[in-house]
Amino acid sequence: MLAGSAKAYSAILFDHMSMSQEELLVRRIKEGTVLDHVEAGRALRVLTALGIKGEDGNIVTVAMNVLSSKMGKKDIVKIADRFLSQEESDRIALIAPRATVNLIRDYRVVEKRVVHLPKTFVNIFRCPNPTCISNSPEPIVPELQVLRADPPTLKCKYCARLLYPVDVLSNQ
Ligand SMILES: [Zn+2]
Repeated sequence: MLAGSAKAYSAILFDHMSMSQEELLVRRIKEGTVLDHVEAGRALRVLTALGIKGEDGNIVTVAMNVLSSKMGKKDIVKIADRFLSQEESDRIALIAPRATVNLIRDYRVVEKRVVHLPKTFVNIFRCPNPTCISNSPEPIVPELQVLRADPPTLKCKYCARLLYPVDVLSNQ
């Protein structure tokens, strides 16, 4: 009985600690975008999909495998002084389907949104078919069309190959 209560108590303490850690990591940005609830380990892919290389001088903070009460573990990406549009944030819909996009102004969340699968992914993923013309030396911009949302099913615009997230993500 006693041991049981002690266990329950430490579980509560642990939850409380991970909550404050979450809040700390998410809140400290004055202006910009915070991508929260990114699937653990995928933050760098998110940056690639958004075309963020850190070369513009803006502060980009990446926290990977942070404890999350909702997801077990998650990644967080904070991009200072940049406000992602809905179209931009939808580019990460396959990589981080559960991501929440928080726009921050003067340390406060002024807008919170979820990501939706767009109709097409232009220049984000390559077609895995090695003989596809989009993988040839021709100057062709890779484009994958979304046929179905659940389960996500895509089609290469050029070779018509059907693709699933696993095919696309392993080829990002
Ligand atoms: Zn193709």
